[in-house]
Formats: sequence, structure tokens, C-alpha cells
Amino acid sequence: MEALIPVINKLQDVFNTVGADIIQLPQIVVVGTQSSGKSSVLESLVGRDLLPRGTGIVTRRPLILQLVHVSAEDRRKTAGDENDPATWKHSRHLSKGIDAEEWGKFLHTKNKLYTDFDEIRQEIENETERISGNNKGISPEPIHLKIFSPNVVNLTLVDLPGMTKVPVGDQPKDIELQIRDLILRFISNPNSIILAVTAANTDMATSEALKIAREVDPDGRRTLAVITKLDLMDAGTDAMDVLMGRVIPVKLGIIGVVNRSQLDINNKKSVADSNRDEYAFLQKKYPSLANRNGTKYLARTLNRLLMHHIRDCLPELKTRINVLAAQYQSLLNGYGEPVDDKSATLLQLITKFATEYCNTIEGTAKYIETSELCGGARICYIFHETFGRTLESVDPLGGLNTIDILTAIRNATGPRPALFVPEVSFELLVKRQIKRLEEPSLRCVELVHEEMQRIIQHCSNYSTQELLRFPKLHDAIVEVVTSLLRRRLPVTNEMVHNLVAIELAYINTKHPDFADACGLMNNNIEEQRRNRLAREMPSAGSRDKPVPITRKLSAREQRDCEVIERLIKSYFLIVRKNIQDSVPKAVMHFLVNHVKDTLQSELVGQLYKALLLDDLLTESEDMAQRRKEAADMQQALQRASQIIAEIRETHLW
Ligand code: GDP
Ligand code: MG
Repeated sequence: MEALIPVINKLQDVFNTVGADIIQLPQIVVVGTQSSGKSSVLESLVGRDLLPRGTGIVTRRPLILQLVHVSAEDRRKTAGDENDPATWKHSRHLSKGIDAEEWGKFLHTKNKLYTDFDEIRQEIENETERISGNNKGISPEPIHLKIFSPNVVNLTLVDLPGMTKVPVGDQPKDIELQIRDLILRFISNPNSIILAVTAANTDMATSEALKIAREVDPDGRRTLAVITKLDLMDAGTDAMDVLMGRVIPVKLGIIGVVNRSQLDINNKKSVADSNRDEYAFLQKKYPSLANRNGTKYLARTLNRLLMHHIRDCLPELKTRINVLAAQYQSLLNGYGEPVDDKSATLLQLITKFATEYCNTIEGTAKYIETSELCGGARICYIFHETFGRTLESVDPLGGLNTIDILTAIRNATGPRPALFVPEVSFELLVKRQIKRLEEPSLRCVELVHEEMQRIIQHCSNYSTQELLRFPKLHDAIVEVVTSLLRRRLPVTNEMVHNLVAIELAYINTKHPDFADACGLMNNNIEEQRRNRLAREMPSAGSRDKPVPITRKLSAREQRDCEVIERLIKSYFLIVRKNIQDSVPKAVMHFLVNHVKDTLQSELVGQLYKALLLDDLLTESEDMAQRRKEAADMQQALQRASQIIAEIRETHLW
């Protein structure tokens, strides 16, 4: 079966790449009656003398024989752990210091190496006796043997005790059933090829081997019939009808072989001699069938079956490789190309970041956040919802009570009783109210500033993933933007502060909206009073104030208070509207737009320096490593894909 070696070896490379063995070659199991020549058939397939053969029951424990292909180069390598099942399969890790080309290893003797095949056979016999005794007893417990050789493919062969009817020696009464169960256990594995061995000097129609094979493989898709002992047929008979499939047809074929007789074994006839004699025998006795029988042809047939199996597995393997290749490609894309032109890359990354930053504010970013408001939309929300609502909730007369107002009026008039409500008291009081707008306005600046800071994170997380490759550049960019934002903060605060200060600087009683309010005032003074009373009812706290006015207000005082309140409210609303309008404009101009407009040049100015290039574009080690791994894998997958294509083209037909 050496023809398979190159294919399997190539596939092995594919497996090593893909990290799985999708193609598990079927294991080859021999079944048949006692002494029909099962062990002999297996042995001739392996091409080495290594199995105990003989008359009577010789094979008394299943022998699981794993063939492991090793190349000369592998032999020089250091040993891996042979008991690791993974190594058993892909075994290319071999023991140190082996000079022999081929050697064997038993599971039960651990790391002992057998380079002498007679010794191997002896060990099989010893181990059989150890468990099954020396008086023909059998045991279902398998012996595991591995043969390492450059002349084998990775394949598992199973030699089984022969079917028998009558218990002999130490055999239990139900020996027939026990052996049957044992055989069934191995051949019912759908991934096994059954070699149903029948001796030519028995009647094929009564073949126990074919009978049991049919039980598990009724369609005959994995059963191959082997007729042994063609040389031992009675004079005057031949196996023509049997070999032609006229007695029992077997889908995959019926192959006659001549193995070494007991005498040959005793005389230590070599495998090569045996093959030559077999060929001569077939030529003489069955000239028309000679090229479709014999050990060589059996091996070729098995080869073909294994090849078919491989071919059936190839599409799946190919799909898997393609999927993996696509995965690694996208991974690689994510990692980006290694940097050739550092200067260009730096500029490009800076520009990309700046663009993404601006886009996030403008709402034209590529990656739009869907789970929460972000960027420009959030700034809009801050202006109109957060800030707008807060301003609207500021009560024009909040924090003022009648006593404050009266006190202010009286203080403003000085020693003389006034005829009219003094304007000074209005100004004093209204300024006090206007001042209350400053705090929420400054808070608005703070919120927008925070959001601008958050956008940096958003950009580096979602938009410019490439940046993550260069942690230093990332940090530097964050630093520059943060400091730019920080520098804009006092300027913006100052402006907002000024906006309120401007309002305080001049109380424009000639404001058209205010004049209207004054005119209307007299008409609903009565209503005003009712409102005021309603507001003051629960405010018992006002009595605790230091100015000790607890008496009932005179009509004049009441009217004065109402007038003042009305004026304050009216004027306050005008100012609040101004502030509500102008603070967002100021924030946009002094903070948002300014940062947007200067970000690019700021970043370039601070980071695009020859001296910084190397430092900023140092990739995280992790990334360089991951890219290399992915690239290697990608290459290996490509090669695997090629190998599969080659196998499909050249080896299958
Ligand atoms: P198993 O019990 O089925 O494993 O049979 P073995 O392989 O141990 O063979 C039983 C005996 O038959 C051995 O002595 C073999 O030498 C002999 N034998 C097997 N095949 C042939 C054959 O094709 N021709 C001859 N002459 N002897 C064979
Ligand atoms: Mg045997």
C-alpha cells in the first residue's frame, strides 16, 4: 500500500495546518474461521514477518496494529509522548537515537523499542499468554502494537481470533458466541473495511466470514472477500467459480491469494520469495485471472478503497480550508499591513482619526452607534433637552419672597417714602434672578466637553481600529485631543460667563417685549395678586428671615410687590430666552467648532515629527506576533488548498 504514502503524507500536512483529522482512514479488520489464514493475509499486506501464525488457535487476543509512517528526517527528531493519543495518530514524534529504519512499540511495554521483528512476534505471543493463559483461552482485551516505518501509510489493521465452534482447552462453553461478539464489536464500526477471509479448500457457500460481514454490512459496501490457500485445493478442483463471483458475488471483489505454508514459515521463507512464488502460481493455475488476484492486487484494491474514502472526504476538507482561509484573511485585514512608509502611515492615521472625529460630530461617521446617543446627536440632546429643560425649570421668581421684595423697595427709596416703585429695586432683584442662569449654562459647557472627550474613545474603538495596532500613537492622539479640549474649556466658560455678565451689565427696560409687558401689567393686577397669595401661603419659612416684618401688608405695599414681581418675571423670561439661545451658540463656536476646525492641524503639528515617527509607530508586540501567526496560517492554508487540488487531479484515477 505504499502508493498511498505520498498522498497521505501530503494530507498529513493539510491536517497539521487545519488542526484536525477530518480524514480518518478506515481500519482494516480481518475476519474468518480459525486457521483460514487471516494473520497471514495481514502480514503479507504489511510486508513484514511479525505476526504469530500457525495451526490451531494462535491469535487469541485482538491485535490492533497501527502502522505509522515516518520519514528519515522524522527519525532524527526528538521523541514526543507516544502515549498521547494525538501523537498516536499523527505520529511524527519519534524516539531519540534510533538507527533502525523500522521499529515497533507495544502499548503494554511503554517506551521499549523493538527493532527485531522476531522479538515483536515473541512479545505478541508472551502478551497473549499473559492474559489468556497458555491453554487456548481467548481474551477480548486487545494488544496494541505500533510499527514505525518509512514504508507504511498511517493505517490501522486489526487481527482477530478466528471463529470457532467447539471449545477446546481452557475455552469456555460459549467460546463461539464470545468470539462472535468480539468480531462484531470491531466490524460494526462503519469506518472499517472488512477482509472476509475464506480458505479455498473450504466451501465458500458456507463461509462464516462472509456471513458475519453481511450482518454489519448488508450492502457489501465495505466487505472485501479474500480467498486463501489457493495452493492447497484438492487435485482436480479449482477456485475459478469462486474467484469469478459465481458462487457468492461480493461487490467490492473476491481476491485469491497464496500465503506461506507452515513449512515455508518454519523454513523462514522471505516475503519477497513468497510473493514471487505466488505470482508464478497464479500465472500457471489461473492465467486469465492472474492480474486480478494475489497479494499485490489485494494491496492495490485496498489502496483504491482507501483512496475512494479519501476522495469522499476531500470536499469537506476543502470547504473547511476555505472557511478557515476566509477567517484568517479577515483577521489579517484587521491587523493591517506592516508599515513601509512610516511618515505616510502616520499622516494617514492622524487624518483618519481627525476625519472620524469630525464625522462623529457631524453625524456622518461610518460606524454609527445604535445603542446610545453619541457625538453630534448627543451634543444636540445636551443643548435642547438637558440644558433647555433645566433653564425652563428655573422659576423666574424662585428664591424671592415678598419680604425680600419689600425690603429691596424700601432700601432703594432711602429715607423718603417713594411715590412710585423705584427702578433700582427692580434692577437689583432682576439681576439676582438672572445670575441664577449662569450655573446651568456652565454645566452645559461641562457636559459638551465630556461628550467631546467621549468621542475620542468612540473613534478609536470603532472607527479607526487600525490605531489599536499602535498603542503609543493612540495614546498620543488621545493626549493631544484631550489637551486641546482642556484648553478650550476656560475660553468657552469665560464666554458663557460673559453672556450672563452682558445681561447683567445693562437691564434694557426699553426692550420691546418688556415694554409690552409693562403696558399689560395694569390690566391684570388683580390676578397677579391672587397668584402671589397662592404662592406665599405655604411659605411659613419666610418668617424666619432676619427682616422682622410679620404684619399684614398695606394695599400699597401689596401693589408695589406685585408690580415688581411682574416686571421681574417678564424681564427674566426675555433674558432666559437669550441665554437659552446664545449658550449653545457659544459652546459650538468656542468649543465644538473650534476643536473640529483645528484638530487636524493640532494633531499634525504636535505628532507629525520625524523624531517621533519610530516611537509612535511602534506596534504592540502582541500585534506583530499575531499578524505573523495569521500570515503563516494563511500561507499554510493556501498550500493545503493547493495540495488538495493536486491530490484530486493526480492521485485518484
Ligand atoms: P489464522 O488463524 O486465520 O490467523 O491463520 P494463520 O494465518 O495463522 O494461518 C494458519 C495456517 O495456514 C498457517 O500455518 C499458515 O502457514 C497456513 N496458511 C495460511 N495461508 C496459506 C496459504 O495461502 N497457503 C498455504 N499453503 N498455507 C497457508
Ligand atoms: Mg491468526
